[in-house]
Amino acid sequence: MTLQIHQFPCLSDNYGFLIHDEETQTTAAIDTPDPNAILNELHEKQWNLTHIFNTHHHFDHTGGNETLKEKTNCQIYGPQAEKSRIPLIDHPLSEGDTAKLGNFEATILEVPGHTAGHIAYHFAKEKILFVGDTLFVMGCGRLFEGTAEQMWQSLSKLRRLPDETIVYCAHEYSAANAAFALSLTPNDEAVRSRKTAIDAARAKNMPTVPTRMDWEKAANPFLRADSASLAQALHMTGAAPTEIFAETRRRKDSF
Ligand SMILES: [Zn+2]
Repeated sequence: MTLQIHQFPCLSDNYGFLIHDEETQTTAAIDTPDPNAILNELHEKQWNLTHIFNTHHHFDHTGGNETLKEKTNCQIYGPQAEKSRIPLIDHPLSEGDTAKLGNFEATILEVPGHTAGHIAYHFAKEKILFVGDTLFVMGCGRLFEGTAEQMWQSLSKLRRLPDETIVYCAHEYSAANAAFALSLTPNDEAVRSRKTAIDAARAKNMPTVPTRMDWEKAANPFLRADSASLAQALHMTGAAPTEIFAETRRRKDSF
């Protein structure tokens, strides 16, 4: 029994995801960037939408909730802390709650920083993680509502998951993130080889999502704010990881 995952591009650089349990014929959309694209993909797959799992309130993640609810009467799950900002939410979720899809079960991780109530969906048994805009390939989400301290704690929480965890990020930002990472640590072999792989994939218009937690631990500067090499590269040896994280995020914001 496997959780089927169907990934497709949406809007300019979002990814849509449909996840499906064949036995119970249940299907969830992870966020709703574009309702028409999601309806088309559902039609192609001959899947019926039964659930929406929202990660945070931004419009490119919840903009399709109303249309999809109207067309399918699906149940909508999302963060309790953003309940008032997520259209038609039925099931508000907090840290440690579970969201079931047929035979499968996601545990909710609260990961504030990009927004104040952002959550991730962790299918622990399958080692699959949907992170919305918290963690990207070689990057992380901008700090729109949270502090650097909160985001570093959130990313540290994700980093503690098993190395082989497959990570589904909501945007294709990898090429720009890789260029930024290499600018920080130009002699880091893990960063350099990862950038080469990303550039090769993007040259063929292939997605770089999903990624793996161990790949990100090796080459994503935002997961490495406590590494000596990044501290040295920023001339911040001895500084606290939160300060190093904040400086890395500041530099990326104007890269
Ligand atoms: Zn967002």
